[in-house]
Amino acid sequence: MFQAFLIKYGEIGVKGKNRYVFEDALVARMKQVLYHVDGTFQITKEQGRIYVEAEGAFDYEETVASLQRVFGIVGICPVVLVEDRGFEELSRDVMEYMHRMYEGVTKTFKVHTRRANKHYPMDSMEVNAELGGRILEQFPGLKVDVHAPDILLQIELRSHICIYSEVIPGPGGMPLGTNGRSMLLLSGGIDSPVAGYMVAKRGVYIDATYFHAPPYTSERAKEKVVDLAKKVARYTGPIRLHVVNFTDIQMYIYDRCPHDELTIIMRRYMMRIAQQIAEDTGCLALITGESIGQVASQTVPSLVATNDVCTLPVFRPLIAFDKEDIVSVAKKIDTYEISILPFEDCCTTFVAKHPVTKPQVERIRRSEQALSEKIEDMVKEALDTREVIQVR
Ligand code: ATP
Ligand code: MG
Repeated sequence: MFQAFLIKYGEIGVKGKNRYVFEDALVARMKQVLYHVDGTFQITKEQGRIYVEAEGAFDYEETVASLQRVFGIVGICPVVLVEDRGFEELSRDVMEYMHRMYEGVTKTFKVHTRRANKHYPMDSMEVNAELGGRILEQFPGLKVDVHAPDILLQIELRSHICIYSEVIPGPGGMPLGTNGRSMLLLSGGIDSPVAGYMVAKRGVYIDATYFHAPPYTSERAKEKVVDLAKKVARYTGPIRLHVVNFTDIQMYIYDRCPHDELTIIMRRYMMRIAQQIAEDTGCLALITGESIGQVASQTVPSLVATNDVCTLPVFRPLIAFDKEDIVSVAKKIDTYEISILPFEDCCTTFVAKHPVTKPQVERIRRSEQALSEKIEDMVKEALDTREVIQVR
């Protein structure tokens, strides 16, 4: 029944003179996702509205599902688009629409007309009243409720006329690419994919760095991270995944530093390396899945000690989230089932029995001096030998 969709977008609407930048980014991203859907689509922008029209047959479910992954979209309305051929024709089209959508149902409704075409011969109140009356006559199950109707039948009078009553929720947020690019520290856990998703939702393109420690972490553990990146990329567009071999650095830290400080020192090196890659590849900030108090390395003093080596801003969107809330986002974006697969993490192999929970930055810096002999070269080696995987 539907050949077209009206796209509602929220916050972009208030961006003043820059509005077209946001709209263009939104349209560009919609084109990208629809490219992979069965069907041929036209996307048009007019008077603060974006329409998607399908030419001929198309996969309705897949179209809606794809648009539901486009940041910036607040609502997807399946619409019937008709030419303006006078009110009687419009009335026939509306009754036809109501028959197909609501035949035999018992519900309340309201008609809401927007008259963007200022030359339309009736005003919006007249259209509401006239159509409302005819619907009441033809549909015994429907009653009017102007305050909280079950069905809000919307009629937009423009150069063509748009009839709809359904709004399928979109993800919200801002269109991708309107806020530069950032580097996600992506592990195989539950949190970091969610963190990447959340920052991307604000319009930020994502690249990712994964620290791999063969043979302590297997090829399967790396595949798991690639699979997670693929899931996230459904929302964020292509992700360049940098896989850094971290084994030698970890071993060296293990040999030379106090074991209760291992995790913190390792995390400081992860940040340093990710930051270097970020700077080399045009990323403006780092993103992690850290959340206050979740583990010893995420107490506030531990976060302070880790952050000590960062010169780029670090976005930690989950900082005040409980695990439960993170899990519910992970389920929504379909990363959860992959995240809980049991593959070893590079940190678990070397983790101390009693890690510090109140590290002192000065002491950590002093402990790191034991690494000074070789660590620079090892970091350079890790950067130079990284593998870059294009995930889409
Ligand atoms: P996650 O569920 O995201 O793995 P976590 O609760 O296991 O997080 P940590 O292992 O302390 O927590 O890691 C905190 C953050 O550090 C992660 O969210 C991620 O951003 C980053 N991180 C941890 N391990 C790695 C890794 N091997 N490669 C890349 N980033 C990592
Ligand atoms: Mg982890």
